[in-house]
Amino acid sequence: MLRQTLLNHATKAVGRTTAKSLLQNIVSSRTTVVTKTLLTKNTTFQGVRAIHTTRTSLFAAGAPDQHPLPTVNIAQDKSGAVTVHPPKESNYYRPHQPTTTLNSLWLRDNCPCPDCIHPSTRQKLHASSQVPLDIAVSSHRVLPEGLELTWSKGLDDVGDWEDPAKAQSGHKSLYPWGMILGSYGGTPTEHRAETRMNHKPILWDETMMKEKVLWLDYDEYMNTNEGLLKGLKHLQDYGLFFLKGVPTKDQEVVNTAERIGHLRHTFYGKTWDVKSVPNAKNVAYTNLNLGLHMDLLYMEAPPGLQLLHSLENSVPGGTSIFMDSFKAVQLLKQEHPEDYEILKTTPNTFHYRNADNHLHYNRTTIVVDPMNDALTVNYAPPFQGPLELPAEQMAGFYRALRRFAGYIERPDLQFRHTMRPGECMVFANRRVLHARTAFDPTKGNRHLKGCYVDLDMFKDKYRTTMLAKAEGKF
Ligand SMILES: [Zn+2]
Repeated sequence: MLRQTLLNHATKAVGRTTAKSLLQNIVSSRTTVVTKTLLTKNTTFQGVRAIHTTRTSLFAAGAPDQHPLPTVNIAQDKSGAVTVHPPKESNYYRPHQPTTTLNSLWLRDNCPCPDCIHPSTRQKLHASSQVPLDIAVSSHRVLPEGLELTWSKGLDDVGDWEDPAKAQSGHKSLYPWGMILGSYGGTPTEHRAETRMNHKPILWDETMMKEKVLWLDYDEYMNTNEGLLKGLKHLQDYGLFFLKGVPTKDQEVVNTAERIGHLRHTFYGKTWDVKSVPNAKNVAYTNLNLGLHMDLLYMEAPPGLQLLHSLENSVPGGTSIFMDSFKAVQLLKQEHPEDYEILKTTPNTFHYRNADNHLHYNRTTIVVDPMNDALTVNYAPPFQGPLELPAEQMAGFYRALRRFAGYIERPDLQFRHTMRPGECMVFANRRVLHARTAFDPTKGNRHLKGCYVDLDMFKDKYRTTMLAKAEGKF
């Protein structure tokens, strides 16, 4: 069904002969060839573009091998489980998990055909609750482009979710091998994370960061995809990079941030100024020493990225310090596992409370999120409120937090740099702690302009830029 639709769309766009050869390419070649051919033939036809995007993402984990094909077994019991066994020569063969088992409800629900997933919006056209619980595979074919299944039953009508055409039995689904063996389904977590480009961070200390620190040229970052990707990749791996040659214009940090994604507006404004002011509402706006911390932990969703652009810096002092909190988590877990457990389970209190505002949020210091293969740290001493714990839990928490702080404050785990005008630091606020030493405001001026971007915007840009690179678009 997918093959026929592809052919129809492509025929409208480029004529039948070309369409046929394109389709052959789609089926037999690797992603880059398909994309390049389709883009050259037709850059505007939406249907074709949508389809090649689909195919590209489905094949992102690697193109199917032509020979030999995986063997497939459909269980004849009530489970109807579909087991797929790629041969040793296949791209998808994994010695530690040679067989992938897929559930038939999951398969029907995730049919990728244009009747089930809208070709241009890429959104599902039915609800999971419509899949009959006793649906079964009535026949199957193992094809070079994927596994074709024919279904014993149509979809059910549930509430407003109804479609007479889909209530018929006999729907055919074609699952590209890259979809069922690569990115989803019965694949191991680490493989799924990899296809989402959510690979493990590289933990660093002072020695490593001195060697790996990225000073990226502003023009390269703003005007080339390669430059942008360099910065994004460093953010993913190390949680920070620096730009140099940024024009020292007041709102330039906005352009710098919007290269990644739209700004996160907070009650500090779209952008904010870090300079010493009288009667400051925030310790950042004084000349005092400001210890390692993260921003906005008293909000439900603290921003994932922070940018700080140096416009002026002629004062003695005011050095920036960065520290990889994930490194501190790793060391705590190895050396004091009981304290690691306490910080994973005990809520700390963060608040921002003065004349005009009252924000408040309780969260644990260490958050391990296996659903999203993510680690998050919450550490911000200046913004801690009184703990809201039973008295008997206090001592254990204070001991654990003190041990954690012991790693955070170790100079051999910190990277120091005094920002010069025209430099901008970009860092992951939920991973890399930042600090500033005290400075003397009577001996010159210090002015940084900052803003925030949500981590989702970064991940989005990183994945799409990586994919574009893989497809040979730059
Ligand atoms: Zn379908």
